[in-house]
Amino acid sequence: MVTSTTFRRLEPRVWSVLERVGASAPVDVALVGTERCIRRIDFRSMMLDGALEAIEGGFRVYIHDTRQEREVPLEPGIRLDRRQRFTMAHEIAHTFFFDTAHPRPRPYKETPPYPVLESLCQTTASEIVLPEPLIKKFVSRLEPLSIEQVLALSDAFDVSADVVLHRISRSPQLVASSHAVLLLERRGGDDAVIVASFFGSALLAYFPRPEKRKLSDWNPGLIPSRTEGLSDQWSEILPLVCARRLQHPTASSRFFLELVGKRDL
Ligand SMILES: [Zn+2]
Repeated sequence: MVTSTTFRRLEPRVWSVLERVGASAPVDVALVGTERCIRRIDFRSMMLDGALEAIEGGFRVYIHDTRQEREVPLEPGIRLDRRQRFTMAHEIAHTFFFDTAHPRPRPYKETPPYPVLESLCQTTASEIVLPEPLIKKFVSRLEPLSIEQVLALSDAFDVSADVVLHRISRSPQLVASSHAVLLLERRGGDDAVIVASFFGSALLAYFPRPEKRKLSDWNPGLIPSRTEGLSDQWSEILPLVCARRLQHPTASSRFFLELVGKRDL
């Protein structure tokens, strides 16, 4: 039962499903979905990224799509973009809160309340697309974590860079890194918003942990006009702190900053 569940209790069930389907990077989320009794997939333009519906014999999943409107049986290998892959993983996570012993799965009575459930499903989704056992195979190549390694992980697992950063931040023990990698987005004006970040604890000597907020609120020394001139080569940006910058390869409004204490460079 997944009553009053915490992610730690759900995690072994997720891993056992991934093991049963022989998951490797990038994880075939459609295959994982079929293993969790998702029978049909409905692509349509929606207000939400996705939704799950219990039907006779399993589930139907709805995926936001502006290019197509069709409902088909869910089959391994079905084409999904990165955002849709994460949405599919999120809807798969919801299936763990249903009793599939009934012809039409029923939600468990003790399913956590909505905000708790959604956050559990986000965490579980990130585990489905970036499972710890598979990340561990990359770990030796991730230390210290650099922007390029975040992008390599993002390509290898076919997920967006923010999903990679959130996932690694959740399990900092996976990466013993003294570097920080921030993904930022320019939203008009002169400021940038921190979308996601990994923050090596060695940097706590210089900065507090970044939260999802404006870059200049986190550290006034890092205002965009100051970071704009940075290249992918290290330069000292603040006393004892070096930084480099890289444009996001596909999103023109996004860029990465990598920071490290001078003594750790
Ligand atoms: Zn949800």
